[in-house]
Amino acid sequence: MTNPDRLWDTCADSLRTQLGQSTWLAWFDGVRQLSGGDEPASRTGTGEVNRQVVLSVPASVVKERLEARYMPMITEELGKACGGQVKVRLTVATEPGLSDESVLSVEPPPPGAAARTEATRSTSPAAASTATALNPAYTFDAFVTGPSNRFAEAAAQAVAEMPGSAYNPLFIYGGSGLGKTHLLHAIGNYVHQHFPHRRVLYVPTETFLNQFIHSMRTKAQTDFKQRYRVCDVLLFDDVDLLENKEALQEEFFHTFNALYQSSTQIVLSADRPPKQFLTVDDRLRSRLLSGVTTTVEPPDLETRLAILGKKAEGIDRSVPPDVLEFIATNIRHNIRELEGALIRVTAFANLNEESLTLDLAEKLLADVVAGNQPRQLSPAMILAATGELFGFSVEELCGASRRRSLVTARHVGMYVCRQLTDHSYPMIAREFGGRDHTTVIHAINKISTLMAERRQIYEQVIELMRRLQAGG
Ligand code: ADP
Ligand code: MG
Repeated sequence: MTNPDRLWDTCADSLRTQLGQSTWLAWFDGVRQLSGGDEPASRTGTGEVNRQVVLSVPASVVKERLEARYMPMITEELGKACGGQVKVRLTVATEPGLSDESVLSVEPPPPGAAARTEATRSTSPAAASTATALNPAYTFDAFVTGPSNRFAEAAAQAVAEMPGSAYNPLFIYGGSGLGKTHLLHAIGNYVHQHFPHRRVLYVPTETFLNQFIHSMRTKAQTDFKQRYRVCDVLLFDDVDLLENKEALQEEFFHTFNALYQSSTQIVLSADRPPKQFLTVDDRLRSRLLSGVTTTVEPPDLETRLAILGKKAEGIDRSVPPDVLEFIATNIRHNIRELEGALIRVTAFANLNEESLTLDLAEKLLADVVAGNQPRQLSPAMILAATGELFGFSVEELCGASRRRSLVTARHVGMYVCRQLTDHSYPMIAREFGGRDHTTVIHAINKISTLMAERRQIYEQVIELMRRLQAGG
């Protein structure tokens, strides 16, 4: 039999092989055996040894994760190693300096620390905007995994649970509408909820660029630097926008380095690998790739079905499986379009109190299915068509007036822009008069709900999309 003090070491190799290197490093690396070498705790009726093994883990997040997911595997392996049944208990290591994660998630911060955090929060514009800049609907729970995105999700989850220590930087790339922004927000939402005194900053590269230009103009460079250098988790979305912007790449490199050296967790997304859009600096490229790089790919049919099923749960009506299957089979490349199609058919059925059948779905989505190669549309075209449909000028749509009918038109335009172009929230925000991207998130959520409640809104959205697709 294995030396009872070394049971864990004995199973480590086998576990590592079964789990894969990345999972092992994220969750098992700091696990140690505390006890288990004692006399057997009891003997069962059949004479089998029933031993208790106590393992120490570096943080309570690790403990929760191992308990939730890996206990049967651990128990089985330890059982094999000692030739009998074992009972496994996990305990969070308490030695000072071993880990601060456990302290963070188990105990609230001391009163002084909380006050300090609050104080910095209220004085720092970057921190103040943190919570609202995240879309609360983009969580890990709402993210469906499949072969196309499993590793990206696991890496994002590991980063969220142990910011700054698992994978740094984490670089996620892949095509439009495949969940990159969703994963970045999910990390942000998770950290925000579980480590409230850690500061998360979600920065669309578009915003970074605008603030950079603004700081150059107003000579407020120190503010600019400060804003980005006071956070614990920085989520940089769409960094491919750095392409052809050399001064910005330079600034980005300095910001990145400063953060990296202070162990800030950095997560980046792009639509391509860095070598395809970073032109000035090899150092920056290799830095971005020095952590973990992972991709999101178009989901297979099964995953598309699962995603639709999940989105349908949030809708106040049941969607028959053949309708889900029809949508999943016909819309293949973009999850945003999948969602859009689902909203379209469920909203229609709701408004007309009709039952949602395959026939109806086929009819409603005929254009989407037939075309499947949408026309290239620009926000300018969408703004013009929106103005025309609602009887407003583009200036009015982009202006500041909050007149009700105008606000509705603006929001419908933003929704359609999200549906028919690859533009990110901040890009849409800029096109609609330089607003904040959170306004766009809000508008899109609102319109997708209103479509099922107000016939007029539904018809305006569909009509606007129809005109744009038809090129009229
Ligand atoms: P990207 O940033 O890659 O262009 P987004 O993150 O904006 O894509 O995703 C587009 C839409 O698809 C979002 O509404 C998002 O919630 C949804 N989505 C993407 N991937 C998934 C997934 N795996 N599970 C559930 N929803 C997803
Ligand atoms: Mg995105």
